[in-house]
Amino acid sequence: MRKITVLICALSMVMLCSCNTSPDTPQADHTEAEHEKTLFAMDTYMSLKAYGENGGNVLEKAALQITELEDMLSVTESGSEISQINSADTAAVGISDDTTELLKASLALNKETNGAFDITLYPVSQEWGFTTNDHHIPDDKRLEELLANTGCDKIHLDDAVQKASLDKNVSIDLGGIAKGYAGKIAAETLKRNNIKSALLNMGGNVQTVGAKPDGSAWKVGIQDPEDESLLAGSVEVIDKAVITSGGYERFFIGQDGKKYHHIIDPKTGRPAENGIISSTVIGDDGALCDALSTSFYIMGVDGASEYLSRHHETDAVLIGDDNTLYITKGIEQAFEPLNSFTDARIVVIGKTG
Ligand code: AMP
Ligand code: MG
Repeated sequence: MRKITVLICALSMVMLCSCNTSPDTPQADHTEAEHEKTLFAMDTYMSLKAYGENGGNVLEKAALQITELEDMLSVTESGSEISQINSADTAAVGISDDTTELLKASLALNKETNGAFDITLYPVSQEWGFTTNDHHIPDDKRLEELLANTGCDKIHLDDAVQKASLDKNVSIDLGGIAKGYAGKIAAETLKRNNIKSALLNMGGNVQTVGAKPDGSAWKVGIQDPEDESLLAGSVEVIDKAVITSGGYERFFIGQDGKKYHHIIDPKTGRPAENGIISSTVIGDDGALCDALSTSFYIMGVDGASEYLSRHHETDAVLIGDDNTLYITKGIEQAFEPLNSFTDARIVVIGKTG
């Protein structure tokens, strides 16, 4: 069921491309061949499109890289580097460049987000059953016990020798950042191989390379969090990642009839409830955007706005639970509300001047 949902979402986001070439934009060759590679990786359907000569071969390379990253970073595959770290008790484990970079970024982001982004919540996610789909609602005492073994101060990374270890009973999971990182690495491979135009749609995560073949911006859809068949808006971007997190992506309905989703507030061990129902982050670095989209969902509008006022290079579109749209100044022109959001209240957050 989740796979079908993700596929519909992925397809609805693929190239919502209305042309937007300004009069002074040089027209590229419109006849550039389109190449597509589809795959199921990192628990989602992916559609990778590249334009121009040799696109097919380069996409094969990028797809292979994504599956290699999945094998390295997956928390559920027993041979992955993350599983090795988790099962090593407190021993230090040798790790690759990619895992080192991701752990380093995750630790830095934990600080930057005042603890909202926390990769040590894996035992809490397991307890809720998000990793096995065997869902249940833990009681307060159990959550308290589990939270005692969370916190990024319990991760020990020696990036000079590329080794990582954990305190006893601590486990990590890169589910909030790995897909964005994979998009970033795939985009770098495409560029290195002379691809000037590509659209990588990785289920809720979109990574663009350059502009569309005609030189205009990509138009990327943002899903309506309450109706997966509709879009809440779109953003026009060139050479950026557009990454969305939402409780609607993975959840279960408890016996009490309430919805419980997979983005965990590290302070409570419970699904985050801070007034946001969808969080999209737009920027140059897909891994950073991925971690921030998860974090903003937890931090709420005020926390996100405070972060964004210090980081002008990052843009965001947040949807509040009263359907207010919160957007940064940098994306004001590029953002268009759609469908039932056409008349929604829009509030500028982050740097307002
Ligand atoms: P995303 O879909 O990118 O928002 O990431 C959600 C996934 O990140 C979850 O399925 C968990 O694997 C993991 N996760 C949940 N809560 C957190 C958190 N507070 N910090 C970091 N990762 C989290
Ligand atoms: Mg994320």
